[in-house]
Amino acid sequence: DVPVPGKASTRFDLEKETELRFEVEAGEAAEQVELELLTGMAEVFGSELNRNKKYTFGPGSKIAVFTWQGCSVNLYGKPEVAYVSKDTPMLLYLNTHAALEQMRKQAERDNERGPRVMVVGPTDVGKSTVCRLLLSYAVRVGRRPTLVELDVGQSGVSVPGTVSALCIERPADVEEGFSVQAPLVYHFGSTTPGTNIKLYNKLTSCLADVFSRRCEVNRKASVGGCIINTCGWVKGSGYQALVHCASAFEVDVVLVLDHERLYNELKRDLPHFVRVVLLPKSGGVVERSKECRRDTRDEKIREYFYGFRGVTFYPFSYEVRFSDVRIYKIGAPSIPDSCLPLGMSQDDTQLKLVPVTPGRDLTYHVLSVSSAEDGEEGARKGIVESPVCGFIVVTNVDTQTQVMKVLSPAPRPLPRHTLLIMDIRFMDMK
Ligand code: ADP
Repeated sequence: DVPVPGKASTRFDLEKETELRFEVEAGEAAEQVELELLTGMAEVFGSELNRNKKYTFGPGSKIAVFTWQGCSVNLYGKPEVAYVSKDTPMLLYLNTHAALEQMRKQAERDNERGPRVMVVGPTDVGKSTVCRLLLSYAVRVGRRPTLVELDVGQSGVSVPGTVSALCIERPADVEEGFSVQAPLVYHFGSTTPGTNIKLYNKLTSCLADVFSRRCEVNRKASVGGCIINTCGWVKGSGYQALVHCASAFEVDVVLVLDHERLYNELKRDLPHFVRVVLLPKSGGVVERSKECRRDTRDEKIREYFYGFRGVTFYPFSYEVRFSDVRIYKIGAPSIPDSCLPLGMSQDDTQLKLVPVTPGRDLTYHVLSVSSAEDGEEGARKGIVESPVCGFIVVTNVDTQTQVMKVLSPAPRPLPRHTLLIMDIRFMDMK
């Protein structure tokens, strides 16, 4: 083999049904690691590797190269860790895929709908990875499943603080994941469902409605079913949100990763026809620190504006007059029931649009641009349930001139004038 100049290479010979796990050091200065398949066949989270092609993984990547038949690979560069494991749950995951595929076949035959699957478990058990795997396997056998992303902290589809749905048409790219084209995205506004559980449940229902309507007119989407990725919050209201999601989507299968109590609770609380399955987590899943999560979120927003890997975007910066936009926060601070105006419930306050007066404290906040038609009072009604068409970040506020400066992926003017404020901030350090 021909080593890349200046980069050390290490060869790994993998027996069948084993995986090579490696991590790339985090941090700006960290060196990338390249992976090359030399002989045999292998896959990364359900996507097959091409032989003699170098795949590049950037700082912070945590990767598993799994082989069903055996293979040899080269790593170039200095991974933080790299080891081969024989102990992986991949066979169980493959069996899960096979069972879902049976359900799709049956759906096709009986003119029914395909499996709707919810993946649950605490943080860092590999939920997103299992979703990616099942979706990639499904498209590889010609299905068109839908990914429903309900993890508002670590969304694989859009910026943090959103929930979304994406039709999957091809396997995830080994280096970049799923190609994100035309996702359906809703504004939630913060990184944990707990800040506004009513809104979270409402948006889950919105996604379920849209998905069901699509299934009615698109047979392939209906048979393909969906894979729902959820948040790692599995207690209290977090648990209730999972039960709500199961009912909104009328899920058929729940995959519980590595959490026996959650498994038992869901078995008890969901209708008997829902198949609840307990699956082990992979020993390769790496726990991520708070900082690491925050960095990933930041990176996701940066990517939205600046692109990533080979693709560079050039965002625009321009001024927006306060008088040209309406900014809202969804949800008023909750007040004791006894203080609520007569006839008003706590739900109403959590879904209420509260006008935000632009001030200096708006600086660095991410704002969603609502797709709701501009217009007066009447239009306000649909805003919470309207998808968003994009995001901007406020970079400066001038209260004197009543103007704010924004970072935007597209040139002025804003496509719409209803903006929803997130708790999430982004400081542009470029
Ligand atoms: P969750 O969605 O439950 O928070 P993820 O699926 O995002 O967890 O996994 C956490 C991290 O572990 C990710 O960076 C992922 O790439 C990595 N990972 C998952 N499975 C493996 C594995 N078998 N070997 C190495 N790393 C893995």
